[in-house]
Amino acid sequence: MRGVVMHAPGDVRVEDLPEPTLQQPTDAIIRLAAACICGSDLWPYRGADTITEPKPMGHEYVGVVEQVGADVTEIKVGDFVVGSFFASDNTCEICRAGYQTSCLHRDFPGPSQAQLMRVPLADGTLVATPGVPDDDLIPSLLAASDVLGTGWFGAVAAEAGPGKTVAVVGDGAVGLMAVLAAKELGAERIIAMSRHADRQALARELGATDIVTERGEAGVARVKELTDGLGAHSVVEAVGTQESMLQAIGATRPGGHVGFVGVLHDVAIAGDDIFMTHVHVHGGPAPVRRFLPDLIDRIWQRRIDPGKVFDLTLPLEQAAEGYVAMDQRTATKVLLQP
Ligand SMILES: [Zn+2]
Repeated sequence: MRGVVMHAPGDVRVEDLPEPTLQQPTDAIIRLAAACICGSDLWPYRGADTITEPKPMGHEYVGVVEQVGADVTEIKVGDFVVGSFFASDNTCEICRAGYQTSCLHRDFPGPSQAQLMRVPLADGTLVATPGVPDDDLIPSLLAASDVLGTGWFGAVAAEAGPGKTVAVVGDGAVGLMAVLAAKELGAERIIAMSRHADRQALARELGATDIVTERGEAGVARVKELTDGLGAHSVVEAVGTQESMLQAIGATRPGGHVGFVGVLHDVAIAGDDIFMTHVHVHGGPAPVRRFLPDLIDRIWQRRIDPGKVFDLTLPLEQAAEGYVAMDQRTATKVLLQP
């Protein structure tokens, strides 16, 4: 089969790879209907994460089940499924509390930028759609696999809801999905922090009521100006840098909530940034599995269209172009067709 392999920063190739096989009786093999490139794939692509050996890529996926192990009882061959980037049993105490990305039996599906992939703990990890989706729903279902689920968790962790003002730091795919989530969760006002005209437009389309172009301390000051000097009730941090984290905490009112879902790189928070501000800070790798049944239902009913976040679609064979586009920000999110 064909699959994407990163050899070194800036060096992505599509190669022949061995087909994945069932390794555990709880595994499934799925044939990808679509995969995509993640913002987090850019960290190794830009050399911020070290690559010691050629690395097959991808952790977002939708597809059709081709094989299941002997102990898989819920998921059937032929099901169209959506899964998350961590495999989870969905039965342990941590999973039942809604933190499937910290499952006691956590495992790793994929890689998914390929024609076929292995998914461990298939019954716990995968959610089958009600039927075969129309083609136009596939991008939205793929978004649910990571960026929508992650943005949703950010909004939930920030306690977005009716009557709340929600600010979103970061206008990448996850930040844009957090705007959509805040709207769906009933937020009254949604402030998108973005400097890019195209992303500002999409943020407005997804529910943003205000745009703030300033960053850092100036961004914090602008959010306070818009909220009677108080700051937002809820702030979603969807970048993962020191500046964005401090911007998120600073833009939150006393007693408010920060939901942080950007993968952190070299972030250090001083005790006083939390102690003296009365800000709740909650985040981490999003337990996307918690939200998948609800998100799939909203997509199936055509209440939400998160697939809008994909602004470039390429055949898997041209994956390298997709990495260039995301690296140079000519694309927000790239869908790959296997
Ligand atoms: Zn578990």
